[in-house]
Amino acid sequence: MSKPIAIVWHRRDLRVHDNPALHQAVSAGHTVLGLFIVDTEALCHRDMAPARVYYLRESVNELQFAYQKLGGRLSIRQGNPVEVLKSLVEEVGASALFFNDDIEPDTRKRDDEVLQALKIPVHLCADLLLHPPQTVLTQGGQPYSVYTPFWRNWSVRVKPKPAVKPDRLVSPDHPLGHFPELVDLGFHFSPNLLVVPGEAAARKQLADFCTQSIYDYDDRRDAPALPGTSLLSAALNFGTVGIREVWQSTQQAWQAATHEDQRRNLTVWQQELGWREFYKYVLFHFPRLAEQPFRPQFAEFVWDEDQERFERWCRGETGYPLVDAAMRQLNTVSWMHNRLRMVVASFLTKDLLINWQWGERYFMQKLVDGDLSANNGGWQWAASVGTDPKPLRIFNPSTQAQRYDTQAHFIRKWVSELKDVDTRSLLDVERFLPLERARFGYPVPMVDHKEQQQIFKERYRQVPKRSDFEQSSSD
Ligand SMILES: Cc1cc2nc3c(=O)[nH]c(=O)nc-3n(C[C@H](O)[C@H](O)[C@H](O)COP(=O)(O)OP(=O)(O)OC[C@H]3O[C@@H](n4cnc5c(N)ncnc54)[C@H](O)[C@@H]3O)c2cc1C
Repeated sequence: MSKPIAIVWHRRDLRVHDNPALHQAVSAGHTVLGLFIVDTEALCHRDMAPARVYYLRESVNELQFAYQKLGGRLSIRQGNPVEVLKSLVEEVGASALFFNDDIEPDTRKRDDEVLQALKIPVHLCADLLLHPPQTVLTQGGQPYSVYTPFWRNWSVRVKPKPAVKPDRLVSPDHPLGHFPELVDLGFHFSPNLLVVPGEAAARKQLADFCTQSIYDYDDRRDAPALPGTSLLSAALNFGTVGIREVWQSTQQAWQAATHEDQRRNLTVWQQELGWREFYKYVLFHFPRLAEQPFRPQFAEFVWDEDQERFERWCRGETGYPLVDAAMRQLNTVSWMHNRLRMVVASFLTKDLLINWQWGERYFMQKLVDGDLSANNGGWQWAASVGTDPKPLRIFNPSTQAQRYDTQAHFIRKWVSELKDVDTRSLLDVERFLPLERARFGYPVPMVDHKEQQQIFKERYRQVPKRSDFEQSSSD
């Protein structure tokens, strides 16, 4: 008798290793047909970065090949997911559907529609987070809204092991289909990424990072000119690598460490994985964050709607070298160093007084690793409207440059017209005089940091809850 057929629907899990849905479907004795649905309505909109569509397409194509290497088939279909799934179930006579979970509000709504529409058993598998968000709660049974107590609870829990990769797959005969070309979807993109899409490259990157750079991560992670971070964000967001495998690699690195300082560095990287998990957890419990500030009183904050200033920030022409270098990095390689995401987000909100949601949107239009939860969490943090218990942080772009780009290597790399300017001028906006700027064809600062800071603080003061303001600090 032939085995029952299950469809394994891949979404943000573009891999065969450590894939709970695939593993469970195979373990239950099914013949498995892999599926990826190109939902053009969800994909083709203004806020979709071409870099993400490129990464997605390449990774799905590689996944199709990985299925074939295991003896199976992955079908690529185009259309509305509910309709595609309903008709595919009929076409192949599937008796079960398996897919991995997601926490984004729109995706959860869509998944509920799928659950309602299909008449066969649907298995929704825990994948995206190391611990399901409903399971990590305060003693009072409430979700955490502050990272540190969340981390204390989350980090001591025993982490699940990676799901086993199937040795071979058996699939029903079915047309493979293909992912449309980018231009046919309305995107134009010349690949210039720092990362290679697909599962094989992601796993190699993880292995390299966890045998080398993880051991001095904390010492190097804040210097944007150094290759000190893992560059795994796109892989984690598209699921070309599984989070259990990532965590297990950190545990193996811990075993292999030869001294305490290596373990300290490694723990700091694990804490970053904790931030990833925290922002997803918070969005799961407070889906309104996708549209609103965590602290609701800040919905009334008076922002400037200055389109011209915003566009100069987007282009990297603010006259603040570190800010401009960061924005040009983003515009060129579709990725920005974490320290600089904080710097430019602080600059947009606290120096230009522009709504954090404008910046959040621009990031999603550019980033290869653009992700609703991490991006929204980062922007709310930077704008002082989010879950951070120390609410008012204002970054001084000159101080940040002096601390983290000490030789101005990063600035010179990305703002090429400044490559012959002396380091002191590049690291201190006030020392970089207008005449000298004119000589290099570089603009004067578009605003005065000290003045703008005062205006921001004044407006911040107008918002109720004075006690928040009293905890202010300057970084
Ligand atoms: C304003 C702002 C916007 C951001 N937007 C995004 C986004 O759209 N997508 C995204 O993945 N990250 C975002 N981040 C978080 C962080 O900047 C990136 O995850 C990181 O720069 C990716 O580089 P990496 O993989 O080398 O990170 P590493 O330093 O090697 O960190 C390892 C992993 O931990 C996670 N991580 C690290 N820092 C954070 C953080 N602060 N919040 C959540 N997860 C984190 C990521 O998955 C990252 O790949 C944002 C941060 C800020 C301040």
